[in-house]
Amino acid sequence: MAQYQPAPRRAPHSLSNDSANYVAMKGAESIFLVEAIPWHLDDGREPTPGFKRDCKNMYNELADQVQLQTEEAKDGTGSSKRPREASSSQSKNKQKGISIRADETSKNKQKGVSMGITAGTKERYSTGFAIARDSPSGERLRILTCAHIFEDLYKKGMHTLTKENIEKMFKISVICVHQQREVLARDSPLPPSRRLKQPTLATVFAVDTEKDLLVLEINIGYLCLFSGTQPTEYCMFDNPPICVAPRPPQIREEVVLLGWPPQRSESSSSGNVSFPNRTYDMVCDLEFNMKGYTMTLMEIDKLLCAHGYSGGPVLNTVVQLVGTYHGIIEKKGYSVSLEDINQFLTQFGVMTHWPDE
Ligand SMILES: [Zn+2]
Repeated sequence: MAQYQPAPRRAPHSLSNDSANYVAMKGAESIFLVEAIPWHLDDGREPTPGFKRDCKNMYNELADQVQLQTEEAKDGTGSSKRPREASSSQSKNKQKGISIRADETSKNKQKGVSMGITAGTKERYSTGFAIARDSPSGERLRILTCAHIFEDLYKKGMHTLTKENIEKMFKISVICVHQQREVLARDSPLPPSRRLKQPTLATVFAVDTEKDLLVLEINIGYLCLFSGTQPTEYCMFDNPPICVAPRPPQIREEVVLLGWPPQRSESSSSGNVSFPNRTYDMVCDLEFNMKGYTMTLMEIDKLLCAHGYSGGPVLNTVVQLVGTYHGIIEKKGYSVSLEDINQFLTQFGVMTHWPDE
């Protein structure tokens, strides 16, 4: 793994003098919308009813265990610091609109830091991005995102999610930014949100729920561009892996977060690093860390984002990865630290090569 290096030189900005604009334009090619649906709640006829029943049983058993423990842990959590807020999109919130914030807050007060995915949530969305290709074929693309789209199935002292049981319980798929652009560019009588999209099924390559990190894998050849025609058109654009930075950003360094809340592809927000690695107990009282997260967090000022940015890449001004977005706590943005991301990628052999030193 790369040792930390001196600060990188700034790349020349051919598109604009604005560094955030350069990062957002260049990074956008690597972004994916990630969608997960519990198999038993999926509308499709496949797989078989028997399979769906097994999935449902497995899901309910895990979700019940988490809820049971959470109920027990509710007692005696009176504290001045309040946990903060949902950042993953979900259909329930979408229907309720912005007014959810008030009741959501009081609910979170009891539950601890939560991103808002509760038992029975059907659609879960996050932002993912290309991080590596397999070797030697290069036919499979690995996509890094957050694990908390499954947060209803883990908690402190109960991190039992694996590649195998996630795949058994969830249908996971991705859409690349090129498909979204294609769908928006073509003539259609339908509003953009109603137009047919063709997600590509993904498998789980690695997961660490204690660090809120998840890597999916897809076959690049199956990445759809447009499905309104026969036969389906596949994406022939480059979906380039984002380079991992050789060192974490410095305090006050500018960073850009890229995200894809549903219907809002190519969203971005920029801010300045206020601290590169805080532990969870510095950010909120320990009893609110109900999910038992162990990673250190990079704290970012002025990040204006919420639902759907979770899992998105935090990039430095030369478009290198320095964090993955975790959520908003106490009005500040937090990403998983570069050190934890590096450890995770190394542990699971995600990278086939690291950037040159
Ligand atoms: Zn593409």
